[in-house]
Amino acid sequence: MELLQKLTRRQLDALQVIQEIESPERGARLGDIASRLKITSPSTLTHLTALEKLNLVERYRGKTRMTPTGAGCLLEYQRHHRIVERMFAKVGYPSDRICDAAREVDLSIDHATVERICQAEGHPDVCPHGEPIPRCPEKKQGRN
Ligand SMILES: [Zn+2]
Ligand SMILES: [Zn+2]
Repeated sequence: MELLQKLTRRQLDALQVIQEIESPERGARLGDIASRLKITSPSTLTHLTALEKLNLVERYRGKTRMTPTGAGCLLEYQRHHRIVERMFAKVGYPSDRICDAAREVDLSIDHATVERICQAEGHPDVCPHGEPIPRCPEKKQGRN
């Protein structure tokens, strides 16, 4: 099972919030993460514990920091989400529906399928909303 496939939507949301609010030295406080997620601290802690087991965050004295693996995981997620958005745009989804539609599948779709869509789309650089798509491994080795 691939890393993204092991994550729930809530765990991913928590990881994104940590990236947004952590300070390099001190990390993110539990209460701040919880209030951004609009859930209780105990449920937030459950998500953080799961993320820690996957080595995506580390916790120290109540503060949470993202690990390099966590940062890589978020890039991989952006790649999945934005490539899948290209696919939904291609089959005619209106632009205000594309993001929600992509969120329904972007965690469960596997890398191989994402690479196929990327190839079929001609290795796009941006999603339909103009957000940059992190590079695909194939493009790194091959042309360009
Ligand atoms: Zn989106
Ligand atoms: Zn987008």
